[in-house]
Amino acid sequence: MKDRWSEEELRAVVVAYREMSHKEAIGRAFVKSQYYKELAERFGRTAKSFEYRMQNISYVYDQMGKPWVKGLKPAKNVGTRTAELIEHIISEIERRDVDDKVAKLLPDDSLTKPAGVRSPKQTTVPTMTYERDPDVKRWVLSRADGRCECCGELAPFTNDKGCPFLEVHHLRTLADGGSDRVSNVVAVCPNCHRALHFGAERSVMLEQMYEKLSRLEQE
Ligand SMILES: [Zn+2]
Ligand SMILES: [Zn+2]
Repeated sequence: MKDRWSEEELRAVVVAYREMSHKEAIGRAFVKSQYYKELAERFGRTAKSFEYRMQNISYVYDQMGKPWVKGLKPAKNVGTRTAELIEHIISEIERRDVDDKVAKLLPDDSLTKPAGVRSPKQTTVPTMTYERDPDVKRWVLSRADGRCECCGELAPFTNDKGCPFLEVHHLRTLADGGSDRVSNVVAVCPNCHRALHFGAERSVMLEQMYEKLSRLEQE
C-alpha cells in the first residue's frame, strides 16, 4: 500500500474532479465510480481511496468558498500538506484556464499577415444530423416573442420576412442524448447562443436558464 500521494496523482484527481463538476453544472450524466476505477487502474491504488481523495477535494473547494460535486461530501481527514498541495493545484489549473483565454485576445506583433487561399478547395464532410420537430421550434420561438430568453434583449435584427431573428438551442445537446422537446429548447440571440456553446461562463448561464424558465427540465 502506497502512502504519500504524489503531486501527479493529486493533479489527476483534481482534473477528474473538475470534469465531474463541469458535467454536473451542465446537467450531463456521469458515473463517479467510473472515474475512481480509471484512476485506480492508472495509479495502482484502490478505487475507494480515490473516492476519499475526491471528498478531500470537496473539502478544499468548500474552504475556498466554492461549490463541490453533489454526493462527494467534504471530508476533512486530509493532512495540511496535502490540503495545501490540492489548493495549489486547483489555483494553478484555474489560473491557466484564465491565461489561455487572455492569450487568445492579445495582439501578437510576431504574426505576419497570412496570404490565405484565393479559391479554397471543396470537400465533402459526412455529417450526422438529427431530425428536429418544427412544431417545437415554432412554439419556442413564439413563446420568446422576439426576445432572447437568455439575456432578455430584443432580437438583434429581423430576417427577410421581417421576423425577429433568434436561434433555438438545445440545453442538453441532441448529440449528448438530449430530447427535442420544449422542456429542453430555448430561443436565444446569436450572441448568447455562441456563449452557451463556447463561453467560459456557459455552465453558469445554463443554470440561470433553468432557474429563469419554469418550462425547462434538466436532462
Ligand atoms: Zn441573448
Ligand atoms: Zn445550440
